[in-house]
Amino acid sequence: MNDPSNAGLEPGLYIVATPIGNLGDLSPRAAAVLAGADLIAVEDSRVTAKLLHHIGTKRPMTPYHDHNADQVRPGLIARMGREAIALVSDAGTPLISDPGFKLVRDARAAGHRVTTIPGPCAAVAALTLTGLPTDRFLFVGFLPAKEKARGEAIAEIAAVRATLIFYESGPRLGATLAALAAGLGEREAGVAREISKTFEECVTDTLSALAARYAEAPPKGEIVIVVAPPGPRPAASADDADTLLREALTRMSTGSAASEVAKATGLPRRDLYARALAMKDEA
Ligand code: SAM
Repeated sequence: MNDPSNAGLEPGLYIVATPIGNLGDLSPRAAAVLAGADLIAVEDSRVTAKLLHHIGTKRPMTPYHDHNADQVRPGLIARMGREAIALVSDAGTPLISDPGFKLVRDARAAGHRVTTIPGPCAAVAALTLTGLPTDRFLFVGFLPAKEKARGEAIAEIAAVRATLIFYESGPRLGATLAALAAGLGEREAGVAREISKTFEECVTDTLSALAARYAEAPPKGEIVIVVAPPGPRPAASADDADTLLREALTRMSTGSAASEVAKATGLPRRDLYARALAMKDEA
């Protein structure tokens, strides 16, 4: 049954971003949706109860987290046809290293209205703090805890030409920074901690210097690591270009081979085309 207090909220799913520390960051629209929702799907009802208390309201809550999501999702989807269901996580934007993606997917598939109330997200907040390039970034989230899997995950993204964003916890920070320094090489990086809280801090340095700083003194609180993109690619030599051209010519026309190698090496296509013609003559 719809509660009279939800007047104005259409049935459907409302994805509501909540503060990552400072309660003042809850937007008026987020507060209005939470106050008007028929039901709020929450990670931890104690955390959300505090937020509701802050805005002077009480609403029915139901747990929605990694351990029960598959069981409770169909019931929530069914209710969305006639009620306004809000989704929150303990902090920040739901779905970002938090539950919710399958709920949104199934709500859309069922034809329900899906609305997002945008707001705080630790990844974006950290990106804005560290002073590293923001034009292209990759959100990696949490790396695996085990050393081997973590090394493999880092190797997989080492060549990505974008600023990298990782979530981390204090006790694991030193080991993660050391693994990043080993796997990504020397790059500028930032450690943003306790964003929007009393002890907000952002330390920037090279990865190895940050690893040394935090090796013996794991900091408290919630942490985002931001790492600069790799430096410029080393210029390809004439021998490298010849090797690539020779291989490409076995698969494609002279023009296409020149284009492919130009893209891979950054060398001028015109020169590569001339070189490819010469190689064909030599053959
Ligand atoms: N959904 C959240 C968001 O929008 O950012 C992230 C949830 S994830 C389970 C929690 C992680 O986010 C923490 O381990 C930390 O890496 C990061 N985080 C959350 N709040 C933070 C804060 N105030 N300062 C720094 N990092 C924070």
